[in-house]
Amino acid sequence: MNRREWIKTTGTLGVGCMAANLGSLPALAAESQAGCKWEPSVMRLNLRHTWTTTMSSSAYRDTIYVRLTSGGVTGLGEGAPIVRYHENAEEGRRAIESILPFLDGANPWQFEKLMAQVFQRVDGQFAAKAALDIAILDWVGKKLDVPLYRFLGLDAADAPITTFSIGIDTPETTRKKVLEAESFPVLKIKVGLDTDEATMAAVRSVTKKPLRVDANEGWKDKEEAVRKINWLESQGVEFIEQPMPADMIEETRWVRSHVHLPIIADEAAVNARALRKLVEAYDGVNVKLDKCGGIQEALRMIYVAKSLGMKTMLGCMVSSSISVTAAAHLSPLVDYADLDGNLLLANDPYRGVTVQKGKLVLPDGPGLGVRTQ
Ligand code: MG
Repeated sequence: MNRREWIKTTGTLGVGCMAANLGSLPALAAESQAGCKWEPSVMRLNLRHTWTTTMSSSAYRDTIYVRLTSGGVTGLGEGAPIVRYHENAEEGRRAIESILPFLDGANPWQFEKLMAQVFQRVDGQFAAKAALDIAILDWVGKKLDVPLYRFLGLDAADAPITTFSIGIDTPETTRKKVLEAESFPVLKIKVGLDTDEATMAAVRSVTKKPLRVDANEGWKDKEEAVRKINWLESQGVEFIEQPMPADMIEETRWVRSHVHLPIIADEAAVNARALRKLVEAYDGVNVKLDKCGGIQEALRMIYVAKSLGMKTMLGCMVSSSISVTAAAHLSPLVDYADLDGNLLLANDPYRGVTVQKGKLVLPDGPGLGVRTQ
């Protein structure tokens, strides 16, 4: 087996495990899926603070919301479109509408084949694909009456702590946000603009906690990146996420050879296949359901990253507890979590994963285990 075939085989491991779990359960094959109802829509979520990164600034977010109803059970899914990849919620909703004739005849028990066919039929629109995939697996878990983490063979006690993210803001608001995040043992600080020194000074004026830093591709020059990363190391930072633009892989490899802090890929790591070319430039990968197209591809990314010797992290976009809880169910598999997108909302319509002293606490209800507030 050559290297390419080996990675391909490893990448299908997660889905293979799920299929094995499913196959051991009786009476599923006989269930008819006639009458599947798919309802895509756009959900508007208001933010507690205006959210600013190097990419965008907004007071609300629209996400793609999917309800799948069949056999008296409704699965819920959500995907947050990522501006970086030119996605928006309305186009994502329309992409799902465009394949409704296919979805109406599809069998959600065969979720691996179903999503493979969705990927063949729809270009891009990964948030829409994530919304579909999450709704399907929520439905499957509810039908089987098991929480998603148990369906995946995971131990909820292994869920890691999550960081709380501090978006780019004025020093005064940054200090306020850091104080509001007192219950989180580790914070993730967004940098990458020309305010980095002021931001870090504001954070360090009110806390001594370990920090993780996300530059969101903000540094375009490799010498500048090395200077910033070495300075951040002196500020008690544990690792740095996506310091340089995603396509500057060779420059990032050079930066990695000149710094001590681990470097995590986010914008550069779009799916499992992308990881092979990142292994020399990055120490780890930030997996997001909205970015890669759902739970199944996220599992492939996690297993491929582990097999390449990379650290794994689960991240999220600003979204409701549907999407964040879906990611949290995979979190017993990863080294780091940054699953706080629901905590940034003023009006989360759902309740699912919770956080106690920074640690993710997975809900025990079937499927995602999310309820309306
Ligand atoms: Mg990031």
